[in-house]
Amino acid sequence: MGLGKKFIGLLAIVLVVGCTQSDGQQEQQQKKDWALALHGGAGAISEDRPDSVKQAYFDDLDEALTIGEDILSNGGSAEDAVEKVINYMEDNPRFNAGKGAVFTHDGEHELDAAFMIGNTREAGAVTGVKTVKNPITLARKVMETSEHVMFATEGAERYADKVGVERVDQDYFYTESRYKALQRALEQEKEDDGKQSSLVPYEDKTALYADGEKFGTVGCVAVDKNGQIVAGTSTGGMTNKKFGRVGDVPIIGSGTYASDLVAVSMTGWGEKIMRAVSGHTVSAYMKYKPATLEEAGDYLLQDVLNPGEAGMIAVDKYGNIYMDMNTNGMFRGSSDSEGNREVAIWD
Ligand code: ASP
Repeated sequence: MGLGKKFIGLLAIVLVVGCTQSDGQQEQQQKKDWALALHGGAGAISEDRPDSVKQAYFDDLDEALTIGEDILSNGGSAEDAVEKVINYMEDNPRFNAGKGAVFTHDGEHELDAAFMIGNTREAGAVTGVKTVKNPITLARKVMETSEHVMFATEGAERYADKVGVERVDQDYFYTESRYKALQRALEQEKEDDGKQSSLVPYEDKTALYADGEKFGTVGCVAVDKNGQIVAGTSTGGMTNKKFGRVGDVPIIGSGTYASDLVAVSMTGWGEKIMRAVSGHTVSAYMKYKPATLEEAGDYLLQDVLNPGEAGMIAVDKYGNIYMDMNTNGMFRGSSDSEGNREVAIWD
């Protein structure tokens, strides 16, 4: 055998052993009974805010986490945990989803949501809905009861009526702080003379957005005792978004994705998250590199996306949890069957 062939043979053996070890390391892991992570949007309130304000956010995250923990620890499904956690955050005006959703350029609310089960690759999504109280519930219904994956605008609302998902007036979504945020964004846009889009939520234009108004999309990922891996995300999108804009959240594979390896929910600047096909990138990196969840999450947030653009939560099939961001913070919480529990806001 020539030297070249010997070298190739050796390289092949090294590669095979390397892959086996990496797979082996993953296979050796004991699956946790269940695990759960949630986010309430990338970005953060100032640490200088009064304790009462900070505590209110911690209490909300804690309450959302408890809802998911109760379901999963009693043997409930990851689908129910993800939907009910997100319903709570949709109904809570502090978050930019359901009640408390941001305003569009035209002074309306247009909501997006997606739901996905990794094991079966079933998915459902809705975009641009104006009258659906809990878009995540509709996204789950689309997944479970229709032959399609995504419904848009009036069609999605018609489907809500068909499957009995509650609808409300636009006034339901109103909050004063979100209204003021739109007024400020419109003012700024006028000053910029339309040269620059004000669809820039985080560090790049922090001054544009008053503290406490540049975040709030919600998401949840979970794995249950049967190994079902589920992701869900719900949002009002971005303040001053233009007519008919669709963000990353309802695009399966971008802001929301689940595979047989991992469930991912993103938050942040939707256009950037979409262009990186973020959720799918994490799953594909884990599978083909092969890489751990931590390596894949770091790859997306540090190598693919730029500082100030996004936050991510994910859970893999073993119940390993990832929560990180390249913004100044992300409202988040996680819990698992081994008693690990965390609620955090800042980086
Ligand atoms: N990603 C959302 C969107 O672009 C916004 C957010 O996460 O804050 O619609």
